[in-house]
Amino acid sequence: MNRLAKRIVAAAAAVVSLVAMTGCGSSSEETSGPKITIGIKFDQPGVGYKQGNEYTGFDVDVARYVAKKLGYSEKQIIWKEAPSAQREALLQNGDVDFIAASYSITEDRKKVVDFAGPYFYAGQDLLVRSDDTSIKSAKDLNGKNLCTVSGSTSAQVVKDNFAKSVQIMELSGYAECVTALISGTVDAVTTDDIILAGLASAKGGGVLKVLGQPFTKETYGIGVKKGSTQLIKQINDALAEMVSDGSWQKALDAETSGTDYSPNKEWNPPTKFDAEDSDETVRTDTASAK
Ligand code: GLU
Repeated sequence: MNRLAKRIVAAAAAVVSLVAMTGCGSSSEETSGPKITIGIKFDQPGVGYKQGNEYTGFDVDVARYVAKKLGYSEKQIIWKEAPSAQREALLQNGDVDFIAASYSITEDRKKVVDFAGPYFYAGQDLLVRSDDTSIKSAKDLNGKNLCTVSGSTSAQVVKDNFAKSVQIMELSGYAECVTALISGTVDAVTTDDIILAGLASAKGGGVLKVLGQPFTKETYGIGVKKGSTQLIKQINDALAEMVSDGSWQKALDAETSGTDYSPNKEWNPPTKFDAEDSDETVRTDTASAK
């Protein structure tokens, strides 16, 4: 091979290796060492949110803290979207190691997955257009169009309680519901207050408001595959530490700053991390919304 041919071969080899380095997988997959895959929401600003390669929100802060206590650095985390309707399947199939995605602990879910926590208490509320004075509480939803997300407890609550008088539109994500609300396709969006507050401030462009009258108690847990006794214990220890060393409050304040949201002080922060044996999954009476 003459010198030119050698140089061409060398250049081609360099291109091939460059493509191999950058062409496959995300940056997190290139880092050596063990990985942990964590399910979060991608469309809930302040709770679980993806923007470019940045992952933010209170759930993400909690997940990061827990992962660190389990021995994983940020670079060892693979973030995976966990839409409401897919959470149980993601855990059952082993697609994620744990889920921190505004995931309420319920008796039904406990039949198929286990929970660590709780790490937060929210309440189901309503998001409406700021100039709409006709909806002051859930009672005013009669004859209105209401958006809710498939697979959420919020969707179940509206089906059980408002179904006769309210036109329910079920969509796959929260971003879609907000778009429908702004465009006038629906009159209200319902889910947990902390999620609605984040959506109103980051996506509402000043035209949306949260009613501020929560009508359920949502007990957020970290979902794990059924039978993960050891992992649950480790996660619970991490959560207890996150509350006691002040990181929990710091994260919550930072992630909700700039919104009008103030978490329920009677319920928060959690003091017992006993999701596994607690029966505290009961929803509050939604009769007022009927
Ligand atoms: N916390 C409720 C649930 O687990 C509503 C929020 C969500 O869809 O993640 O279903």
